Amino acid sequence: MKVIEHIEKANGKTQFSFEILPPLKGQNIQSIFDGIDPLMEFNPPFIDVTYHREEYVYEEQENGLLQKKVVRKRPGTVGICAAIQNKYNVDAIPHILCGGFSKEDTENFLIDLGFLGIDNVMALRGDAVKSETYFTAEKDGHSYASDLVTQITDLNNGDYLDVELQNSTPTDFCIGVAGYPEKHLEAPNLDSDVHFLKKKIKNGASYVVTQMFFDNKKYFSFVDKCRSEGITVPIIPGLKPLSTKKQLNVIPQRFNADLPEELIKEVLKCKDNAAVRQVGVEWCVAQSKELMTGNIPFLHYYSMGKSDNIRSIAMELF
Ligand code: FAD
Repeated sequence: MKVIEHIEKANGKTQFSFEILPPLKGQNIQSIFDGIDPLMEFNPPFIDVTYHREEYVYEEQENGLLQKKVVRKRPGTVGICAAIQNKYNVDAIPHILCGGFSKEDTENFLIDLGFLGIDNVMALRGDAVKSETYFTAEKDGHSYASDLVTQITDLNNGDYLDVELQNSTPTDFCIGVAGYPEKHLEAPNLDSDVHFLKKKIKNGASYVVTQMFFDNKKYFSFVDKCRSEGITVPIIPGLKPLSTKKQLNVIPQRFNADLPEELIKEVLKCKDNAAVRQVGVEWCVAQSKELMTGNIPFLHYYSMGKSDNIRSIAMELF
């Protein structure tokens, strides 16, 4: 079932959903199930599965020269989605990127998803490859998520890349896209970022999931801005509980999210990461409770492969 249909069916009630990461290459599917099992009692209608593109590793050879190797540390997005749908009978939403994909790769990826009975996708540009500063599209790939959304919409209309194809079956994907309450790192300002978010909706996206944020005012004012720019689709807040002191520095840098002074002070008082985890859970519960008063269809949690703190939060709310 599509995300949009889940929202309609819930009739105004806020539901629980979460995102997981594929395990590192070499681990098994049980590690994924072990993370999902404790969260199933909160009835998530869908689970997102992230996509991780290739990285470049440089290995020194005997002659002193460096050899470039391409590695994918967390493959398995599509397989995990199929396994989730089979085992739990809930919708799994694979993330799909522009980065590393030609248009032909994208079409074939979407065909696989359709055959597996997956009818939601989260369409993203992806970041630059880790060893590079700027995002570079594949030759014959997409530079922006809005173009990827257009390709998915075209396929939903039965328009495949090969215009000679006869009697081709349209796909039927509900498309989600990313939104940034504190703007995307590369965007010159929020106005510009919202302008391009609107383009993703115009090209066929049905809902938005936000980047993590720790101050609800940022989310509410982002939603107001989107509405005033004519974006009417659901905007699902993405939330992450802090769990380590190190995240005070990592999160602002990697996700362009500000941390409120009050939260920083509480974390700095903590003796160890167990105490930080407790602060993170309490902050996230308070954030969630306030958001729930604002007609929010889903509270979407970034589990990052660890479900214990997400479970503690869900027990307070759902
Ligand atoms: P876009 O919407 O393409 O925007 C990228 C930047 O370009 C923005 O600054 C935007 O303002 C600007 N822009 C857009 N269109 C244009 C245009 N036509 N001209 C000029 N500028 C333009 N990353 C992963 O690798 N795997 C994942 O699974 C993953 N899941 C995510 C889930 C969520 C909910 C979120 C919020 C992010 C996720 N990311 C993931 C990270 C995401 O890939 C990065 O934030 C990436 O840098 C931007 O992706 P986007 O889809 O927002 O890009």
